[in-house]
Amino acid sequence: MATQRVLVIFGTRPEAIKLFPVVRALQATADIAVRTCVTAQHRGLLDQVLGIAQLRPDIDLDLMEPGQSLDRLTARLLTGLGEVLDAERPDLVMVQGDTATAMAGALAAYYRRIPVAHVEAGLRSGDIYHPWPEEVNRRIVAPIARDHFAPTETAAAALRRENIDPATIHVTGNTVIDALHWTRERIKDEPGLAAGLGPLAERFTGKQIVLVTTHRRENFGGGMAAIARSIRRIADRDDVAVLFPMHPNPAVAAVMDEVLNDHPHVARIEPLDYPHFIAALDLSDLVLTDSGGVQEEAPALGKPVLVMRETTERPEGVEAGTARLVGTDEERIVSEIFTLLDDKAAYAAMARAHNPFGDGHASARIAGVVANAGRS
Ligand code: UDP
Repeated sequence: MATQRVLVIFGTRPEAIKLFPVVRALQATADIAVRTCVTAQHRGLLDQVLGIAQLRPDIDLDLMEPGQSLDRLTARLLTGLGEVLDAERPDLVMVQGDTATAMAGALAAYYRRIPVAHVEAGLRSGDIYHPWPEEVNRRIVAPIARDHFAPTETAAAALRRENIDPATIHVTGNTVIDALHWTRERIKDEPGLAAGLGPLAERFTGKQIVLVTTHRRENFGGGMAAIARSIRRIADRDDVAVLFPMHPNPAVAAVMDEVLNDHPHVARIEPLDYPHFIAALDLSDLVLTDSGGVQEEAPALGKPVLVMRETTERPEGVEAGTARLVGTDEERIVSEIFTLLDDKAAYAAMARAHNPFGDGHASARIAGVVANAGRS
């Protein structure tokens, strides 16, 4: 049987986290030759993950430009990836999630009639401006893809509602849980991988730790200022410490500098590499975030997570009771956090470990489907 050549394309930190377990699973599968292409839409954060995952990309387009518009980014991705596909001529292109890289990778493959596999298919908020532009990016991939790897039954149902052939939808679990398990095992074997958090853990002993991440484009501006003011009010409490690995986007840093300054209870630190971030999740009591991936990881570790968005394409965490949508209203964020800090029963009701997003074997299922398609 001929070897199936699979080209996996990705560009950002979350894509790398969610695809490295899949790449490993494909590498371990007979009759599949996997190659990887990174666009480096987010250079620094992407490279952190590649290092930890010991993944050396075969092709690196290095397309990051400071402050580039979505138009320019998309145009460069489409032409750059088109050239890669012309040179590589893979049998299958694999993309993940909802980034510009995923959308342009799928489109460039479609223009060449190369089949596409979509990992984390079927997430929908129903609102094209929340999250923006991700909701439309992922909807563009859907009609193009041949294989839809839906993380949950909810995501699969969303695809069926869009008339995607049910035979092409595979509920696999989210590969982020595979990445989480793999990384925690590695930390167990090699505690040095997450040792950098030690001094902070010591400094915050005896305090309730709130882990914060924020980077959503649609929160830039007024939303981000309200988030900053809420963080300051939470950190004003003497029994609280805020651990805040900051996304490098200047739209986040500028407002945080202005509002938080050098608040003694806020540790504003560089983005953490993945093992350190997992260790930070383990260390924290609760999580305040607008991130997609963190909404999936926190419930798996039994950490209550307050989501600073109005809608979510990941309702499973909310339904399981570990996640709550709090928007970007200052009063709402502060009052929800204070309730969890002060009311032990309210905290306990949310702090139950759930894995609504998967069992850690999503990548093996995906590799199995790809291998089968190659045989038929
Ligand atoms: N993450 C990380 N270091 C950090 C913050 C987040 O490794 O300092 C990881 C986190 O574990 C999650 C992913 O990055 O898996 C989420 O990425 P991000 O929030 O940038 O994107 P989103 O998930 O919202 O697309």
